Amino acid sequence: MRSISSLFGRLKRGLALGLACTLAACEVPAPQHTAPNVSLPIAPPPGGVPYEPGANFAQFIANFRAQAHAAGITDATYDAAMVHVAFNPRVWQLNSAQPEFVKPIWDYLDGAVSPRRIADGQAMLAANANILMQIERRYGVPKEIVVAIWGMESDYGRSMGNFNMFEALATLAFDGPRTDFARPQLIAALKMVQNDGFKPEMMVSSWAGAFGQTQFVPTAYYAHAVDFDGDGKKDLWNSPADALASTASMLADAGWKRGAPWGYEIRLPQSFPYEQADIDTTKVIADWRALGAKTALGADLPDNAEAGAIILPAGARGPAFLVFGNFKTVLQYNNAVSYALGVCELAARIGGADAIVAPWPRDEVPLNRNERLQVQRDLMMLGYDPGAPDGVLGRKVRAALRVYQQARNLPADGFATKDLLARMNAEIKSKTS
Ligand code: CA
Repeated sequence: MRSISSLFGRLKRGLALGLACTLAACEVPAPQHTAPNVSLPIAPPPGGVPYEPGANFAQFIANFRAQAHAAGITDATYDAAMVHVAFNPRVWQLNSAQPEFVKPIWDYLDGAVSPRRIADGQAMLAANANILMQIERRYGVPKEIVVAIWGMESDYGRSMGNFNMFEALATLAFDGPRTDFARPQLIAALKMVQNDGFKPEMMVSSWAGAFGQTQFVPTAYYAHAVDFDGDGKKDLWNSPADALASTASMLADAGWKRGAPWGYEIRLPQSFPYEQADIDTTKVIADWRALGAKTALGADLPDNAEAGAIILPAGARGPAFLVFGNFKTVLQYNNAVSYALGVCELAARIGGADAIVAPWPRDEVPLNRNERLQVQRDLMMLGYDPGAPDGVLGRKVRAALRVYQQARNLPADGFATKDLLARMNAEIKSKTS
């Protein structure tokens, strides 16, 4: 199970995963599979001229047959799925895109946890009450969490992607930043045809190859999917029972703790040592109490056996959350704090909880790509180690920012803002002039 868990992050969606993302407000995942945050090993086409793979793509399709054979795929299967597959320029474009702006978490949550999404989730909960109760009983994952993932991944089955899975995966596997992800996915997709009787033309997916009601990738299908409605087929496209149980199965495999909370919103005192607020810094409740953390409404933190971490998805000016192991399990489903918070908040709201109490810093203007690169360059020039400048404000950048902030008695939340960038620019200017 441990090896499954450790692989899990790469299994499911592949996209957000292993890439630059995450654990920060400014790095919002792409539930609708919009532009991912990656630096490209291949130069994007100059002047917007579409990339023409020419004969190279056909050559790749021909050559990949040997890898498929080695995995036990027959010529008949390969021909059925791959013969008509063409290079997909749209997939290529999405795979290569570098976002100019990354959506702030409050905008992301406005969409992910909208009143419509909450109401639909409550309706879905009622309409599927019996099956969800059985799923919760078997896997220990609350029905609200399962329904929330359904809502986040496909808007409750309404949008499951509109690419042919083989075309999408073959284009990703051919060349670009995701070949290592896509090639085993392509093999697993071929196995779905050969072993499980799926028809290639019916296998629709997102541009990244995630499919069905809860957007599994093919390797995750083999690792975690279950036939819950008992018709002998694990059909994540057409059977909500199969898809929802498979999601619960995946979370259980990743370590979801039955009966344990994911977390809740908290309130921090002005004097709080913000450098302690990090997904990787866990403390027992007594220690957080000693640092002045309270519930969002100002009460003492309730007892909990598990240690927790404090996250500030929008920095010290925004809401704070105390999160436990189950929150991190959702992160394994899709490794972005914004996604996990979207799922957990949507689940809480579907279950009737109140909205987040503290306001988001909606006046904060997100940094554009050049500014994000400048944050990284500035940190380097000031003697910190933010990693190679790639326009992605990841874990290493946040750690460097915290050290910078601490040295200047600023709240060390590791959150890059226009003000902080201006301050760094001014320091560099005064040093060099
Ligand atoms: Ca089934």
